[in-house]
Amino acid sequence: MLPRRLSTAIIWITAVAGLSYSEYVGHRVRNNRPLVEYVAANKHGLMAQQEKELGIKFNGEPNIQYFSKRDIPGTYYDGETNTLWIDVNDTVSPRNTPECIITRLLKPKADGADETIYHEMGHFYLRQLRMKNGIAQPRTDSEKFHAQRVEEGVAEYFERRMTKFDGFEPFRSGQWHMVKPIIDQYGERGMAFLISNLSKMDEPSEEYQKRVLAALR
Ligand SMILES: [Zn+2]
Repeated sequence: MLPRRLSTAIIWITAVAGLSYSEYVGHRVRNNRPLVEYVAANKHGLMAQQEKELGIKFNGEPNIQYFSKRDIPGTYYDGETNTLWIDVNDTVSPRNTPECIITRLLKPKADGADETIYHEMGHFYLRQLRMKNGIAQPRTDSEKFHAQRVEEGVAEYFERRMTKFDGFEPFRSGQWHMVKPIIDQYGERGMAFLISNLSKMDEPSEEYQKRVLAALR
């Protein structure tokens, strides 16, 4: 049993620390006005460029929200609510504003806003394709795992077609290589096929790619 004074002190310290953390989070989001404004002003232009480059048409757009949590980094797209959650600690606008400099200091590998939009629009587009073709969302853990391989590959493809980057990136270039020839040749049809014919258990990327290409031919 802790003396009462000590437990009161602990409660206060915890409360104050919690408060400053949420203050910090709110502060980071508020201070990322340049990022928020940049995205609002440029998202439609970026989407239009992508439609032209990829020969596709977006149906609507994702809702965009911002968050700041140091322990769960990473921007993500939530298909259930059609919301793109942008991590303000992991994203910078192309302009060299003080907000950018701070973000880069905290996270040297933060993503550029353009690349973030390009990538996440790939996830948005797959949701659109699922709805259009009546393809079910992956439900089991195994389905989710195999769908994830395709999802990340497609999103990376959406990004790299725009940035022309073809170098190595851990976790991403593998999936990109897997789907690239399929989307290059078959576009929308290839992507719809991929999400409705996921890879099988332990199926190596090259085998899966070969199987898909043979089926589409
Ligand atoms: Zn992704």
